[in-house]
Amino acid sequence: MQNNSNSPSSKLDREMGLKFPLKILIAEDNIINQKVVVNLLSRLGYQADVVNNGLEVLDILKQKLYDLILMDIQMPEMGGEDATQLIRKNMPVHQQPRIVALTANAMKGDRERFLAIGMDDYLSKPINFEDLLNVLTISKPLGQASPIAQAQSSPSTADERPAVDPSVLEEFKELMGDDAQEMVTDLVDLYISNSPMLIEQMRRQIAARRFPELQRAAHTLKGNSNQLGAAPLGEICFAMEKLAKSGSVEGAEAILAQIETEFQKVQKELEAKFL
Ligand code: MN
Repeated sequence: MQNNSNSPSSKLDREMGLKFPLKILIAEDNIINQKVVVNLLSRLGYQADVVNNGLEVLDILKQKLYDLILMDIQMPEMGGEDATQLIRKNMPVHQQPRIVALTANAMKGDRERFLAIGMDDYLSKPINFEDLLNVLTISKPLGQASPIAQAQSSPSTADERPAVDPSVLEEFKELMGDDAQEMVTDLVDLYISNSPMLIEQMRRQIAARRFPELQRAAHTLKGNSNQLGAAPLGEICFAMEKLAKSGSVEGAEAILAQIETEFQKVQKELEAKFL
């Protein structure tokens, strides 16, 4: 970890914390993992609180509210799944944090189980910096409308923003150094060629009512879109992901149509700015 305040990454750090202010709680029993996550977050300008198990999570939530909990699954006293279920059952909806599971060696089916008990996402350990960035980017402070509410109630809100925030890829370039331009071009190329396949998969899975597969495709396009600065598209994909998670395809066609329209805008803006 470098502390040179003139390094390119320190600029990103400060901007991230200002752009996406979040109250973050880390629930993790392993001290090394605690340090790693605390350090990654502090590089990005976040000061997270740390607790050691699920009981401590429930305790601290009585005194303080959080926008985001990074929740280890296996902890002594009380693990992440039990703690999540109690939070989802007992806390008022408007105080509910976003909960992201931290897990090593996720097994097939784990992800679906985490989502089913009320977690919003998961991060694999060891935590990848880009994945963590992605989680932070799509998290919202309490009291702000959730992405699904925005996508469903006022699609026009998304229209007023540009489809792509170029500063996201510009900052990524600054971090990457010498080969940055080539890497960004590759990334944009890959995104533009892969996304139509993901959209086509979603269409087939809606028709076949294959919810886990629909959820996965929406999740992938969400992550890819956020990574490239296409947050409005990321939010619409998140609405699809939530819908699939709830085991429904009601309204899925409308969301898919929004995804297609938004992707065309994203493609145009990416090609104009980065290719
Ligand atoms: Mn653990």
